[in-house]
Amino acid sequence: MKINGATKVCGLLAYPVEHSVSPTIHNYLAKKLGINLCYVPLPVKDGDIQTAISGAHSMGFFGMNVSVPYKEKVFSSLSEIDELAQKIGAVNTLVSCTGGFKGYNTDMPGLMRAFDSDGIVVEGRAVVLLGAGGAARAAAYLCGEMKASNLYIVNRTLEKAEQLSLELMKEYPQMKVTALLLKDYDKIKENNLLAIQCTNIGLYPDMEKAVIEDEGFYQKVETAYDLIFNPSETKFMKLAKNQGATGYHGLKMLLYQGIIAFELWNQVSVPEKLAMKTYEKMKEALGIDE
Ligand code: NAP
Repeated sequence: MKINGATKVCGLLAYPVEHSVSPTIHNYLAKKLGINLCYVPLPVKDGDIQTAISGAHSMGFFGMNVSVPYKEKVFSSLSEIDELAQKIGAVNTLVSCTGGFKGYNTDMPGLMRAFDSDGIVVEGRAVVLLGAGGAARAAAYLCGEMKASNLYIVNRTLEKAEQLSLELMKEYPQMKVTALLLKDYDKIKENNLLAIQCTNIGLYPDMEKAVIEDEGFYQKVETAYDLIFNPSETKFMKLAKNQGATGYHGLKMLLYQGIIAFELWNQVSVPEKLAMKTYEKMKEALGIDE
């Protein structure tokens, strides 16, 4: 890569940030598409996010990604917020605009493209969301957009699941939505479920845990989608596979949320063939062999 006076600089605001695979996505896409862009990890400590965003604008940063723990905290530092990000309540992409940055959520459309790529059908289906945090909120709105018939939001903190279910019932009246406490998962009676795992449980290094351990739950699951991608086979996926379900990890969601951010910054369309090559590069960077 040739860095010169015209190089567009993008970065990831997060903490910690050193293990991020996002630089692999964006620097590879820039190289392959011949765009003079450089993407760097930016470790921002708690309390500094507002200063970091206004500094990035002053220094002419072209675009930014935002990850843990700032997806909600950035709202007050933005000049504009896209409607979808506002509804979801989480921003993961900033696009330079007059006076600062506009915030977008590309996690939701990223998961939509990942489902599309993996052939996962949501329309007319009963879906169980495990979790009610930022990622679960993106997945919940996706279920509404993709016309799930029945959505269970199962969370450790019932109030968060209830709040999300109220919002969804208003936005998608055709979808039946039920909020449940995590320990009440056995109240779900449907079979052939699409279960989307949106909690932190099972994430490296706590790989021996799953949010639900009971094999009776997994007997009802047909498709088990974990948003976690490290490890590439989580305990949640293993438990579901043991009962005959198909299991997926969250690396394709990460790929497509990155691709959509790249498309927003550069006003380009990334061809599917290049998306798949980028996916191979990500797997290489993470040491995933499958
Ligand atoms: P978050 O907003 O902090 O939400 C965390 C969720 O996990 C909440 O529902 C929380 O329940 C639940 N939880 C945490 N610890 C728990 C425990 N010990 N027992 C039961 N539930 C527990 O986090 P997030 O941003 O939504 O991220 C969630 C996961 O999605 C992370 O693993 C992240 O890596 C993954 N993710 C993946 C992608 C991707 O591109 N593949 C994108 C975004 C996120 P309470 O509400 O009760 O606290």
